[in-house]
Amino acid sequence: MNTHFDLIAIGGGSGGIASVNRAASHGARCALVEGGRLGGTCVNVGCVPKKVMWYASHIAETLNDAKDYGFQVENRGLDWVKLVEQREAYIKRLNGLYGDKLNNNKVALLQGQASFVDNKTILVDGETYTANHIIIATGGYPSIPSIPGSELGITSDGFFELMQQPKKVAVLGGGYIAVELAGVLAALGSETHYFYRKERPLRSFDTLLSDAVMESMANQGIYNYGQHTPKEIKKTADGLQLFFENGQCIKDLDCVVWAIGRKPNLEPLQLDKTDIALNDRGFIQTDAFQNTNIKGIYAVGDVTGREPLTPVAIAAGRCLSTRLFGGKRDLHLDYSNVATVVFSHPPMGTVGLSEQEARQKFGDDNIKIYKTRFKPMYHAFTQHVTYANMKLVTVGKEEKVVGCHVFGLGSDELLQGFAVAIKMGATKADFDNTVAIHPSNAEELVTMV
Ligand code: FAD
Ligand code: NDP
Repeated sequence: MNTHFDLIAIGGGSGGIASVNRAASHGARCALVEGGRLGGTCVNVGCVPKKVMWYASHIAETLNDAKDYGFQVENRGLDWVKLVEQREAYIKRLNGLYGDKLNNNKVALLQGQASFVDNKTILVDGETYTANHIIIATGGYPSIPSIPGSELGITSDGFFELMQQPKKVAVLGGGYIAVELAGVLAALGSETHYFYRKERPLRSFDTLLSDAVMESMANQGIYNYGQHTPKEIKKTADGLQLFFENGQCIKDLDCVVWAIGRKPNLEPLQLDKTDIALNDRGFIQTDAFQNTNIKGIYAVGDVTGREPLTPVAIAAGRCLSTRLFGGKRDLHLDYSNVATVVFSHPPMGTVGLSEQEARQKFGDDNIKIYKTRFKPMYHAFTQHVTYANMKLVTVGKEEKVVGCHVFGLGSDELLQGFAVAIKMGATKADFDNTVAIHPSNAEELVTMV
């Protein structure tokens, strides 16, 4: 067996797979090391199963609205086990497709955990390997707070292992995962209690979005609790009890979900055998070209702590491999204006600067904000209504659009096109000169005054 390659990527998730496939397309001899299932977090315990559950919850909501449209339908409940089985079978198919593609590209798959022996050599399953270039793409894992009883809760990984729908659940955290899982659980019928430490969730997003999500969660029947820092979990005959530092307590829970951030997957790598530097947050330090401080070693994706999103890991890996093997020596990922969506109910999307960030960067006098709030036509006669909220942040006399924030039905799909316009430097006048698509939610973005 060959033990020297042009490129070895450690981690068969979004970033690692994209890196080796792109390098192989340029003729590089590549190996990929994976200790678990191909596809990594996104495919196995992230974007993919999450989106399946979001689709299921969307169907539940549509069934509720259907009677207002005149359908004689009744939601007689969800077969949770069937949903989970269908979802996992789909993921298994994806695992296989990733394997086939690596095979077609003649990428050697090294199964096992990789650890470093020194700055140039790695060890996998008792065998040592070397490469001209090594990419670390080991992703991350969910954090659990260090409080008594925290092991009685589950993380997003555990959520995807649930074979029974929780009846009464607490979801904790202030980020994407907490908002998404609380929304899914509530829409599917669990009594859902959502706790966050500060005054609002999604604090890094424009306040239009965090306000809208709090309103819609309440509207969904989710019990929302700000300023709640967890202190302890206890198990009793009636279920779990969750205590907070402010003296509050919630009882009779059958599930507690921690969604309080993710840490880089570094331990198995034994980086102490190398000189690879970490940044002040404990992620692998990389420059604009994904270089670590050690020549020939690079890192992409969540393990770098930069914009932990699947398309970012993929784009960073592809740029890097094209730079190394495709002759484009200056190619690197531009991390600005990355569009992102939170699959709330309804979904929200954001690209560019929040109003807060823009005011700080350019000064109040240089910023003009355009906002709208409306009832989407879909809800014209449904009992359950969620309002859409949209904001454009513009800067300077030319009103260059530097931020676009949308909350409402279809936001997840409409944002991608607006992200292209913003990346190209579109102004408010360019938006206004674009004839609207009617009737749609998206048309509001080109008709704002
Ligand atoms: P990963 O996908 O985590 O892959 C790392 C791989 O490395 C893993 O397969 C792991 O087994 C392997 N590995 C680790 N250490 C070693 C070792 N020493 N040796 C060998 N193999 C090793 N992003 C989006 O863009 N959209 C979404 O909707 C979305 N939803 C998400 C929902 C959830 C619940 C979660 C948790 C994440 C979600 N994300 C989403 C984020 C997305 O999943 C990650 O940003 C993405 O998977 C990062 O890719 P990566 O290649 O950096 O790491
Ligand atoms: P995030 O980093 O988004 O949010 C975690 C938040 O939880 C923190 O910001 C903090 O918010 C709060 N928190 C931290 N520690 C504690 C604690 N001890 N107790 C209570 N709350 C705490 O992490 P997630 O786990 O939600 O998601 C990880 C990343 O995965 C995301 O950043 C995103 O990039 C990606 N992802 C993307 C998705 C998508 O694209 N749709 C979906 C899911 C994940 P605060 O300081 O306000 O309390």
